[in-house]
Amino acid sequence: MRVSTLLLYLGGIVLNHLQSIEKEMSIRHIWEARKRIARIINRTPLIQSFVLSELAGRPVYLKLENTHDIGAFKVRGAANKILSLSDEEKKRGVATFSTGNHGMAVAYVARMLGIEAVVCISHRVPKAKVDSLKRLNAKIEIYGESQDEAGKRCYELEKEKGLTLIEPFDDPYVIGGQGTIGLEILEDIPDVTDIIVPLSGGGLLSGIGLAVKSNDPRIRVTGVSMEKSAVMHESLKAGKPVKLEESETLADSLLGGIGLDNKHTFRMVQRYMDANLLISEKDIALSMAFMMDKHRMIIEGAAATGVAALLTNQIPRQEGAVAVVISGQNVDLSLIYKIIQNYV
Ligand SMILES: *Cc1c(COP(=O)(O)O)cnc(C)c1O
Repeated sequence: MRVSTLLLYLGGIVLNHLQSIEKEMSIRHIWEARKRIARIINRTPLIQSFVLSELAGRPVYLKLENTHDIGAFKVRGAANKILSLSDEEKKRGVATFSTGNHGMAVAYVARMLGIEAVVCISHRVPKAKVDSLKRLNAKIEIYGESQDEAGKRCYELEKEKGLTLIEPFDDPYVIGGQGTIGLEILEDIPDVTDIIVPLSGGGLLSGIGLAVKSNDPRIRVTGVSMEKSAVMHESLKAGKPVKLEESETLADSLLGGIGLDNKHTFRMVQRYMDANLLISEKDIALSMAFMMDKHRMIIEGAAATGVAALLTNQIPRQEGAVAVVISGQNVDLSLIYKIIQNYV
């Protein structure tokens, strides 16, 4: 009796271990994503920034993820996830909650594939993003004051109507899709030694980290977030996912929790991120102004955190090329007006 109990127990441990290995992502997931999304996602340009290269004393490149149709990289993850659903799931439709860019990505991909998409968003989401969602034919559900509250509504819809919830970051297919950015950077600048990645829930950093460190573990991956409500930063310090109040920030696309039951990105960011920088609101504004002034390019606050890391001299001066992921450009015109008035 005792022996059989023990054997059952040991068997359980071995099985758990095997399952956790199976759940682990590998570079294979990113190559699969690349093949799956190729027919609907365009490869994005990578340009050298001569001004930033001069300042940094080494070649600096901008990976222009703002040039996707919806103005942000999140179409990659959304496309990889939605294309992997069964025909039955596609017929029932998809749902999502997000501060805007992920919602737009899901709506965009769903419309392209003839699938119905419901987007749950909080009252805090800027008007420009709500208007863009409506233009993409998404059904909008406005609920609560934070991304977490909007999320609860989405889980209800999943139960009531059998919609498939497309997670904004904590899903292997979403992470795999974002990781295709890493492959493209490696192809365009094989001598890259530093990659700077805006960080919120960590889908973007997990995917890029897995892609580039599978190629060369010495490539440094730096995550950048705003000073206020940097949830991943605080979670890493605490050694487990924590919750924080959301506050006003220019980097609104970086708001939102990482999920107290985070399954993938917390561990992946822990493993793949070499440094985590926090950027002040003033430096985010100055970096948005810098991009308008020097590159004639409008980028959103979340994306400007990466530029700020260089402008504030926080990336160690080493050999090799730096790539900054310009993650998006979706920002209200009224804010751009203020930035030009006060910072250009
Ligand atoms: C979502 C988003 C990020 C952060 O991505 P995570 O996968 O949540 O870390 C950065 N920049 C922009 C523009 C975004 O929309």
